[in-house]
Amino acid sequence: MRPDRVEPIHEPATPIVDEEAAWVHQAAARFERASAQELLSWALERFHPRMAISAAGGVDGMALIDMAWRIRPDVRVFTLDTGRLPPETYELFERVREHYGIRVEFEQPDGQDVSALVTEHGPNLMYRSLELRLACCNVRKVEPLKRKLATLDAWVAGLRREQWKSRRNIAKVELDREHGGIVKLNPLADWTLEQVWTYVREHDVPYHPLFDKGYTSIGCAPCTRPVMPGEPERAGRWWWEQDTDKECGIHCSVALLGSMSDREREANGIPSPVEPRSVDPGEA
Ligand code: SF4
Repeated sequence: MRPDRVEPIHEPATPIVDEEAAWVHQAAARFERASAQELLSWALERFHPRMAISAAGGVDGMALIDMAWRIRPDVRVFTLDTGRLPPETYELFERVREHYGIRVEFEQPDGQDVSALVTEHGPNLMYRSLELRLACCNVRKVEPLKRKLATLDAWVAGLRREQWKSRRNIAKVELDREHGGIVKLNPLADWTLEQVWTYVREHDVPYHPLFDKGYTSIGCAPCTRPVMPGEPERAGRWWWEQDTDKECGIHCSVALLGSMSDREREANGIPSPVEPRSVDPGEA
């Protein structure tokens, strides 16, 4: 199902109280109708080298790397190496290194934290409960991301509004209050999946091998599987959690999103923003 018309600029969770927030809000309005390349070009000029693209193997991140590399070949790219990534993700980043000459920055979890969690709850704790799944995401993704973003002034993500209901209201330029108030850019916010694939094919961008095996979203190996024709794009992520936000806390607060299911929202009178869009089986 196609999403309803979206409001281009979402209301910030916290009222604008400072000049920096007002500046970001104005930039979001200014770039709402700009192309992804125009936004990237502006951001690279303004923030490089204290800006990096976050890539996890998805086709959106790869398109962004290609666009940014054509503007600035020394663009920075980082990934969260959770320790549970499928081998194909490492193959992809080897191809990025060969194709673009970009040394992807691998951010890893704290070894002692992982050891304590896995010793206490086992390596496959994520299947036992939402709380344990989020604990795993927190140690392997959220905390490493915090450490990385503490070194940057801006980061770029491949989020799109049609991907999932929790992403419907993203702006192209945001103030990332969760990470020290740095700038977060979503240049593909208004792109469709078809547009991203068209870009990738036209520009011969390397893409994750699992997309040719029925996957439509790429994540950790134990938590990602192929989707059936007609299923939403992110249905293969944490597939056993049928009614949660399917987020890991890196693009939104775990406390705000991860712990509330659609049923809980309904019970609390909180509307579910939009149904995720189904995947056309021929598009990816
Ligand atoms: S996606 Fe799965 S394996 Fe990866 S950090 Fe989250 S729970 Fe752990």
